[in-house]
Formats: sequence, structure tokens, C-alpha cells
Amino acid sequence: MRKFYVKLLIFAKIVEVIKSFLRKIFKEKPNGAQPIDTLTIDFTDARKWEYIIIHHSKGPDKKTRDWEGIRRYHTSWRYKDIIISYERAKELKALGKVVESPWKDIGYQWGIELIGSQYVYRRGRKLHMRGAHCYQNDMNSKAIGICVLGDYDVVSPTEEQIKMLAKLCRRLMNHFNIPITHIKRHSDYANYKSCPGEKFDLSRLIVEIEKLKGV
Ligand SMILES: [Zn+2]
Repeated sequence: MRKFYVKLLIFAKIVEVIKSFLRKIFKEKPNGAQPIDTLTIDFTDARKWEYIIIHHSKGPDKKTRDWEGIRRYHTSWRYKDIIISYERAKELKALGKVVESPWKDIGYQWGIELIGSQYVYRRGRKLHMRGAHCYQNDMNSKAIGICVLGDYDVVSPTEEQIKMLAKLCRRLMNHFNIPITHIKRHSDYANYKSCPGEKFDLSRLIVEIEKLKGV
């Protein structure tokens, strides 16, 4: 009888260890983040996109923000690149100052961000909405904007970031029939900017996208 009781205790302990192990593996992901292997794209009512433009996340103040920080910034009232309250915006407007009004959502359609130790895809604007990431040449209505979070004036993107970006580009290219020559840098249109950074090598990305041909 005692032996049986000991066995039962051991069994209960094993179940507890397995349960905590599973909890660790399947722990909830941060809001809006998707793990790498479940890239799902909602193409509902999507516009006829012709280009993809790559960005990094260095702001006008030279600081790099995280995805939610950029979303907050883009959806707030702004004056001289600083978030301000609605009341302050009203005051400044009355003084004839140029105030930026809140956008409907973050300007990009997609992002790639390091959260904890894992790179994840971030969803931005839906594909039926005009973008707000590159106003030159009316590219906001022609190009899907992808922001790779980080400052690539300082460091090169990692192999993993490039691979994830290539996978996302390939999926979008296949769906919209976007040619490889239409994968562009923000700086190709806004030549006063280095975006997506001096150390972002577009040819490296092109090679990775080519490898995914037919996928
Ligand atoms: Zn940019």
C-alpha cells in the first residue's frame, strides 16, 4: 500500500514538471506579435500593390523606437516630431503653427521586431489601406511599407532578420505579382535619408528572395 502511495506521489510530481515545461513553451506572445513560423497575411480587399519599400526604425530625433512606440507616435498629435496633447495641438493651431494630426494607424503595413530573444512579425496597416511611410512619388498608394526595427546605420541586419524579411517579401510578391526590381529602399525615393540604413545591403535581401522562388 505504501509503495503505491510513493508511486502516486512520483507520478504527480512528473505531471507537474511536464505541465510547467509546456507552459514555458506555449507562453502567451506579446500583443500583436506573431511567431516566425505562422506568418499569416490577410489579403481581404487588398489594394493592387506594385512595390515594397523597406525601412528601419530610426526616428527624426535619431532614436530608434519599438513597434508600439512608433504606433503611439503615428497615432498621436505631433509638433516638431514630439507627441503633444489635443489641447496643445489646438493652441498651436490657433497660433498658425503646422501641427501633424493623428494617423489612423502606424504608417507601415508590416514590421519585424526582436522581442525577448525571438524575431517576430508585427502587423501594421491592413492591405486595403493606403500607407503612410513614403510620400514621394505617391508611393504610399503603390508600395507596401515594411519596417525592420533597428538602426542599420550602426549595425547590419542579422541573417535571421534578412531571412524573415525575404519570406515576407516573397509572399507579398507572389500574391501581387510584384517584380524583384520593385523591392526598394526608402532612400531610393527620399534621398535626404539613409533609411533603411547605410549598413542595410539590399543585394543581400534580393539574393534571399531569389532563393525562395516558387515557394
Ligand atoms: Zn524609412
